[in-house]
Amino acid sequence: MKVTIGLEIHVQMSEAGSKLFCNCKADYRGLNVNTNVCPVCLGLPGALPVVSKRSVELALATSLALKCEIPKFIVFTRKHYFYPDLPKNYQISMIERAGGVPICRNGVISFLDPSRWEWKSCRIRRVNIEEDPGRTVYEEGGITGSPYALVDYNRSGVPLLEIVTEPDIETPRDARLLVEYLLLTLEYLGVTNPRLEGVFRVDANISLDGGERVEVKNIGSIADVEKALNYEILRQSKIREAGGVIERETRHWDPVRGVTRPLRHKEYEEEYLYFPDPDLPPIAITEEMVKGALKIAVEADLQALLSELLKHNIPPEHAWSIVSTKPALDLFKKVVSLGGDPQVVARMLAVDYKGELREQGKDPYDPSNWPPPDTILELSKLTLTGVYPYDTIKGLIIPNLVSNPLARLETLVPEKAGDLDLVVEEVLREEVRAVKDYLEGKTQALNYLVGRVIKKIGRKAVDPRIIRGLLEKRIKAGAPRT
Ligand code: ADP
Ligand code: MG
Ligand code: ZN
Repeated sequence: MKVTIGLEIHVQMSEAGSKLFCNCKADYRGLNVNTNVCPVCLGLPGALPVVSKRSVELALATSLALKCEIPKFIVFTRKHYFYPDLPKNYQISMIERAGGVPICRNGVISFLDPSRWEWKSCRIRRVNIEEDPGRTVYEEGGITGSPYALVDYNRSGVPLLEIVTEPDIETPRDARLLVEYLLLTLEYLGVTNPRLEGVFRVDANISLDGGERVEVKNIGSIADVEKALNYEILRQSKIREAGGVIERETRHWDPVRGVTRPLRHKEYEEEYLYFPDPDLPPIAITEEMVKGALKIAVEADLQALLSELLKHNIPPEHAWSIVSTKPALDLFKKVVSLGGDPQVVARMLAVDYKGELREQGKDPYDPSNWPPPDTILELSKLTLTGVYPYDTIKGLIIPNLVSNPLARLETLVPEKAGDLDLVVEEVLREEVRAVKDYLEGKTQALNYLVGRVIKKIGRKAVDPRIIRGLLEKRIKAGAPRT
């Protein structure tokens, strides 16, 4: 059975600063309802749109990253429909058929299958810039049951990219990997923060053995791209096995139940009455604009970033782990530029530190959960000098550091065994009674002795297990010198 998949990916340019045609914020999250609004994004009479330069620049950088053809000018169009979340009664987009000119066409994305270290590619049909509508909330009984709807216009006018692929994808897994890679690229471009709630939506088109395609709308997570497509393959195969025919239709992904549901038979595009927006004259794409965008695109070339890491003989899975977590890559680059050993630093960041962040339920994408470069540099040196067994660093220092990334390393490092020996000796000399108790089988006494040693050292971060071991060894070896 041949599976054919093409994707339409809508991504908010959450990092663009402003909305597409006004100065309200591009990232509206956490703001009070209907406070991130102005006459333009509320569609008030007489308000005129002014295109955000930054949005065009970021869209252009995306186009270059996707190796697309850039036109000499772009043209925005209007897409009309009536709905409370669309106060102008039209959405500004870039539909080619109605005289619109999208930001770019005919590109390609190469994306990585990290577990097999295999590069795949998919052609890009085009990229559009458009505006997001507002958000409609149905409080009682959902979209069909609620007696009223609430509308929040904070999102109205937020810049979106619509990225449309050719139907080159052959498995749901590849579709997921493509989306993952694309979002990471957009993060490096400074276009979006893929982890923000509702920041992207995928519509996935899928057909089997050259049959009609079904479009699954409203996929909002990377994992769901694969799940929704796997579900469709099953559903469509069953219909075909039973002698049925797949009709062209639009379905809706229900992430809670893990199924797709019928939405409507494909509407005709003409129903939207498209035409070029008379408020927005064509925008020339100058050489200067392309140059500026190219600078951004070059920095965000994941393939180049990966090969840079691989030059240091870092295992590919560590390299991917670092590149796929931007704060880790930023940190890696700094530590290595300060003289850190690339392989040690890579392992420390990609495996141990990142693993411990997960362990403690901390977000690896939040830069404030990572320590400053000096700390990692020192830690990597400690590893190499062998003062501490790597187990101590991994099992004790890194967990402490993850809990408190700004802590100075000295406060996290256990006393060197040499110093500890002296203190242990001293405690054993002073606590003859406790030693005797312990030798007579009162195991509690050992805890008391450990406590005494810790008190003398005056450092909280010493591993009690190490002290316990030293005490046991020393007591077994014979009575302390008095
Ligand atoms: P529309 O204009 O109706 O949205 P397009 O031709 O622009 O349709 O295609 C939309 C999406 O459908 C694209 O991502 C494209 O790759 C995908 N697509 C086109 N043909 C097929 C097919 N036979 N099977 C799966 N996906 C397809
Ligand atoms: Mg479409
Ligand atoms: Zn506004």
